[in-house]
Amino acid sequence: MNQDLPVPHLRMPERAPIPGLPDKLIELHLHAGGAVAPHILWSMAHDQGIKLPVRDYFEFVELVSSNPNKVKNLEDYLAILHQYTEKIQSSPHAIERAVYEIYTKEYRGARVARMELRFNPMKRNLGGERDLDHIIHAALRGLDRACLEYHLQGGLIFCLAREFPAELNEIMVEKAIRYRHRGVVGIDLAGTERNNLELQPESVERFASMFQRARDAGLKTTVHTGETPHTNGDGVIAVVRRLKVNRIGHGIRAAYNEEAMKILREEGVVLEICPTSNLHTRAVSGLPELRHVLRTFLDRGVKFTINTDATYMLGTDLRREAELLVAAEILTGAEVTRCFQIAEEASFLDR
Ligand SMILES: [Zn+2]
Repeated sequence: MNQDLPVPHLRMPERAPIPGLPDKLIELHLHAGGAVAPHILWSMAHDQGIKLPVRDYFEFVELVSSNPNKVKNLEDYLAILHQYTEKIQSSPHAIERAVYEIYTKEYRGARVARMELRFNPMKRNLGGERDLDHIIHAALRGLDRACLEYHLQGGLIFCLAREFPAELNEIMVEKAIRYRHRGVVGIDLAGTERNNLELQPESVERFASMFQRARDAGLKTTVHTGETPHTNGDGVIAVVRRLKVNRIGHGIRAAYNEEAMKILREEGVVLEICPTSNLHTRAVSGLPELRHVLRTFLDRGVKFTINTDATYMLGTDLRREAELLVAAEILTGAEVTRCFQIAEEASFLDR
């Protein structure tokens, strides 16, 4: 065996099952772009005749994985998705297979029986070259098949993009509404809060009518905010006030802002915490800061859930995320179990 094979990712603590943790788990925050096994992506790329920058499979694994040597911040992390996985998933056949493989693998590997999976359909249609409805139907077929075969429950969340012009995000909201009764359960807003302008109420305001329309149509809403270290929880406040979201992706900077935590608690907005992702993107400086953030939320009564963000890209799964928090003495087993109860309550899926 070649000892020089690249072995990415952070070193995780020893695995230890958590007493009391349910047999079956629920995942609320997972991106299709970071959750397909490299060997499946490799096969999908070859199926479509996509020219890859590497010839060797293990070099490809390195390309589509996050590791501390190449990922220094959220931009580096998102670049992996933009450059490779989103493109490889950009055909009806590919996205159908991607969705199917994600659901079935996470059930087999970590007993995730209920999952909300998110992606941006407009980052799967080669800039309009492929028909958006074909992409969406294909994703729903993959979901249907996985749920039927493995008796799972699932739903898709469409990610609007901060960097997109308003017209494109508007189309995505329309599509989410149109497919509301076919398996689309909500919308999200993703992308980096590149500068402080993104955190201002006026910047958030440009999405207000879209989120209102989605809500009126019965969709649920979540937004990525409060993830990067230069932010201070103002984005969290703006998003809760202006977009009236049900949940927030990450939101960890709120731990440094009493007003943000107060509004989260009062409005019952639930945070989707993704521990390993936050360590990779340097959203937190390490396990001690993650401990401080989560203990602060517990102390202030801010509800949060445990999620993966990107299983394969980060070399993790949902059970490992839960075990990490206990092994690092961030949460007790009972607190982790409570997080999964909160996830059930905060899920966008019908019961
Ligand atoms: Zn995310």
